[in-house]
Amino acid sequence: MENSKYRCPHCGSDNTRSFSIIYSEGHGTGVEIHREIVGHNVQSKVTTYADGHKESKVVGSTPVYGNVSHTNSYTSDLAQSVAPPSPPTITPDKVSGAGSETIGELIGGIGCLAPIIAFLVWLIVSFANTFGFINVADFWDTSWHGAFEFMKIVAEAVSVLIVLHCIYDYKNKKIHAEEQRENARQNMEKYRKAKAAWHHSYRCLRCGHSFLVDE
Ligand SMILES: [Zn+2]
Ligand SMILES: [Zn+2]
Repeated sequence: MENSKYRCPHCGSDNTRSFSIIYSEGHGTGVEIHREIVGHNVQSKVTTYADGHKESKVVGSTPVYGNVSHTNSYTSDLAQSVAPPSPPTITPDKVSGAGSETIGELIGGIGCLAPIIAFLVWLIVSFANTFGFINVADFWDTSWHGAFEFMKIVAEAVSVLIVLHCIYDYKNKKIHAEEQRENARQNMEKYRKAKAAWHHSYRCLRCGHSFLVDE
């Protein structure tokens, strides 16, 4: 070999080859054609009766043969040891969760459209009541008024808590999704680097040493 950078840095042999060459030599897919039974010919006997109706009865069957192709792949142990890195299964765009939603998706994603609407209704009713547009007490027996005021406070407090919880939940989901997306980005970057290194990896066929060549 002319260029000394392809020599094994361990034993000095020039019997070296790139990972990709070793891999493609020891890895392949092929198609084999087999003659197989693909169906059956069924023989039946039809009997016509005196009243005109016919009945058929299966009396035997013969197999039908056809050509069936089988795909097979093989990988030698040597090829397996220099196999290229496999891409990550989760790519950044496959990470689901909060991130780039529209307002509708955002509220839907919060998962509490109902309490938000209930809260807004409460707010409108309370304002209308406070500014005298309506008098909520009119809808209630005066003896219930105290209970209503109490329920109102409870309902408002619960609504606020639910909304706060949902916002908190949504923020958590968003943070979690962002972390996953960042992980996926890093894995993708690692894969990209590993793949680039693989293209410059060589194996010495004399001593088995693997090394990188700056090309
Ligand atoms: Zn060597
Ligand atoms: Zn290269």
